[in-house]
Amino acid sequence: MSSQNSLMQKIVSLCKRKGFVYPSSEIYGGLAGFYDYGPLGVELLNNLKRLWWKNTVHERENVYGLDGAILMHPKAWEASGHVAGFTDPLVDCKDCKSRVRPDKLEGWKLKKDNQTGNWQILEVGATKCPLCGGELIPEVRQFNILMETSLGVIEGQKTKAYLKGESCQNIYLDYKNVVESFSPKLPFGIAQIGKAFRNEITLGRFMFKTREFEQWDVEYFVQPEEADKAYKEWKEIRWNWYIKNLKLSAGNLRWRQHSNEERIFYATDAWDIDYKYPWGWDELEGLHHRGNYDLTQHEKFSGTDLKMFNEETGQKILPWIIEASGGVGRTFLALLLENYHEEEVRGRKRIYLSLPPYLAPIQVAILPLVRTDKKLTGAAQEILQALKSSFVVQYDEQGTIGRRYRRQDEIGTPFCLTVDGQTLEDKTVTVRERDSMKQIRVKIPELTSYLTPPLSLPQ
Ligand code: ATP
Repeated sequence: MSSQNSLMQKIVSLCKRKGFVYPSSEIYGGLAGFYDYGPLGVELLNNLKRLWWKNTVHERENVYGLDGAILMHPKAWEASGHVAGFTDPLVDCKDCKSRVRPDKLEGWKLKKDNQTGNWQILEVGATKCPLCGGELIPEVRQFNILMETSLGVIEGQKTKAYLKGESCQNIYLDYKNVVESFSPKLPFGIAQIGKAFRNEITLGRFMFKTREFEQWDVEYFVQPEEADKAYKEWKEIRWNWYIKNLKLSAGNLRWRQHSNEERIFYATDAWDIDYKYPWGWDELEGLHHRGNYDLTQHEKFSGTDLKMFNEETGQKILPWIIEASGGVGRTFLALLLENYHEEEVRGRKRIYLSLPPYLAPIQVAILPLVRTDKKLTGAAQEILQALKSSFVVQYDEQGTIGRRYRRQDEIGTPFCLTVDGQTLEDKTVTVRERDSMKQIRVKIPELTSYLTPPLSLPQ
């Protein structure tokens, strides 16, 4: 087993063991492509989304938030091209019979017909199956991955609907409402974090490719002549965000431009931010220079005028759109991979997650040194009560102090406060920092001001 694969296994095991991520419906044998966030996972997930929202919506004067419904009018998905063409190309392995996406393999060139969704092979690349090493049959098949459901209760009168194939579609449909409510001037953005569903056929990389997932999207509406500049700006904003605010290392990130064959026909340009996952580079977020195709299509299919008044020219125009669309689950996984460490400390293995402190599921652990000493547990409880409205705190009195530190290290808790005999004398506690394991004494009344800066979400 390569060390990269074993890292992935360690993350999957840690997630299950410590309550970050559980396979969905596990007692029924699981449901492929679905996961549940456990008690610690949901904290990390919410912190991540809160940070994105703060940086993308609250700290920008011209970006509006939205939270759209999961089901939309089925015609919207016809307009967007998903009903006809939301297909993935697949080739079969002769030996293990798995289906593999050739567009993700070395050397393949494929082109999609946007009317029919059919893929055509332009160049055959590596034909070795990435799963078993067997031979891939170079004939492409396509499957529509929109997930269907039905509305209504009476057989024969039910209507077909689709779960959102991509979260951003509500933004195009609500764009007119936002314009009418807020009269924004171009450029302005609408941002959303929402669920998306896809009947993905090739699964098996944990949170990387799931059938239900969350996306964060910004659709930035601009004057056509400003589109290139805005595209450049958003590329920079999003790249810097992953490095500066999520602390992913630049060496694990790269830009990848879509080739002419890969790029959707109406887009001017498209780049992905890729992360170096254990199996290689793969997409974290896409930045798309989309022209006005989306609004043109929804205007055509809905019969609603979606133009807005352009004060610069005195004319009505359909704005162009710059899109930044990323996966929350993929980022969650990248964060765990990036921050998982094992080391040996005084002859014993220590596992720690060096998550940015403001993203950690538990921010502060409060540990009375001796469980049976009522004075210590009483003082620790008082600190817990004082801090719990400002931070996510956990009280732990089980086991030796060393074991308790290790438990907190493994789930990424940046600060442990140890309450000991000295606490009762001088009203100080030991603050132990997770990564360096350094310990300092801090006065109890000063704890909030000591902990607030590192635990606050950054700008
Ligand atoms: P891929 O080619 O990797 O399947 P995509 O190009 O189809 O992804 P987009 O449609 O551009 O993805 O979606 C935007 C983002 O949503 C992606 O960058 C990714 O982070 C996330 N995403 C897409 N599909 C999935 C999935 N099945 N599971 C988890 N996240 C996903």
